[in-house]
Amino acid sequence: MKRPKPAVVEHVMRTLAREIDGMELPAIEKISESQQEDPFQVLIATLLSARTQDATTHAASTRLFRRARTPKGMAKLSVKEIEELIYPVSFYRNKARHVKATAEVLATRFRGRVPGTLEELVTLPGVGRKTATLVLILAFQSHRHICVDTHVHRISNRMGWVQTKTPEQTEQALYRNTDARWWPYINLYLVTWGQNVCRPVYPRCGACAIADTCPRLDARAQAAMDASSTRRRPMPARPNRNRRT
Ligand code: SF4
Repeated sequence: MKRPKPAVVEHVMRTLAREIDGMELPAIEKISESQQEDPFQVLIATLLSARTQDATTHAASTRLFRRARTPKGMAKLSVKEIEELIYPVSFYRNKARHVKATAEVLATRFRGRVPGTLEELVTLPGVGRKTATLVLILAFQSHRHICVDTHVHRISNRMGWVQTKTPEQTEQALYRNTDARWWPYINLYLVTWGQNVCRPVYPRCGACAIADTCPRLDARAQAAMDASSTRRRPMPARPNRNRRT
């Protein structure tokens, strides 16, 4: 498998660090900052964020934390109450069940604390690898994990840093192909870039600050498809920039 040159990775990461300054941050980053990286609130907000727009995640988390800020307090809420507080996040019924069950497990099995290991975090209801790694990075300042969502997966493949089919494969390939000093920043930089520039459809390659090092592996195919489809159909609505996967 071809690996990116360390100098290329460094150039991209340093460029993105500059370029995202002033851009809208992903909702979880904002919540994490505003809650002083409280692990419980970062965990719950991350659970709510799946397939939900950033603004909706932020508003729902704020309403929920106003009612209960600790595992013990949240475990006392009924699923119905949590549903009403987090609506309209997508899959709010499922998420309400997971939030209550997670709060109960934390309150009983973990003495009201969020565990600080990947192995323990993924035992919590509704918590997968993506949520667990993000909590470890944001709330526990882990330097040993990379959180890979669809933005990180897509852009890493477009840039040719990995050649993978799933986010799980991408995570493992990024551990092999990039220097550990970049791991805590990969999610923040690529998610912000993916929401603003390297979007799933209509990536803005012409305005991209890292285009000089990017082979645009599937973006070219995507652009060709977009061009031919716009010849046949009216332009579709652009995707929401703030959507987090
Ligand atoms: S050049 Fe295009 S495909 Fe490559 S990172 Fe920039 S926007 Fe994405």
